[in-house]
Amino acid sequence: MTRILVDFDRCEGHGLCEQTAPEVFRLDDEGELHLIRDEVGPEHESSVAAAARVCPVAALKVQP
Ligand code: SF4
Repeated sequence: MTRILVDFDRCEGHGLCEQTAPEVFRLDDEGELHLIRDEVGPEHESSVAAAARVCPVAALKVQP
C-alpha cells in the first residue's frame, strides 16, 4: 500500500491533484481539499505519484 500525506498548511486548493487522481483527492465547494482515502493499492500508485509531482506548492508526499 502507498500512503498519501497532505500538508494542509501548504495546500492552496489549486485542484491539480484532483484532476490527476480523482479517486483520491476531492475539493469541496470552498476549495478545501479532502482525501477520499489516505492509502492506495498498486493500481493507483502511479496516479498518486503524478498528483504529488504536479502540486504547485509541493503539499503532497507519497510513502511507499
Ligand atoms: S494540487 Fe496541491 S495545492 Fe492544489 S489542491 Fe492538490 S494538494 Fe492542494
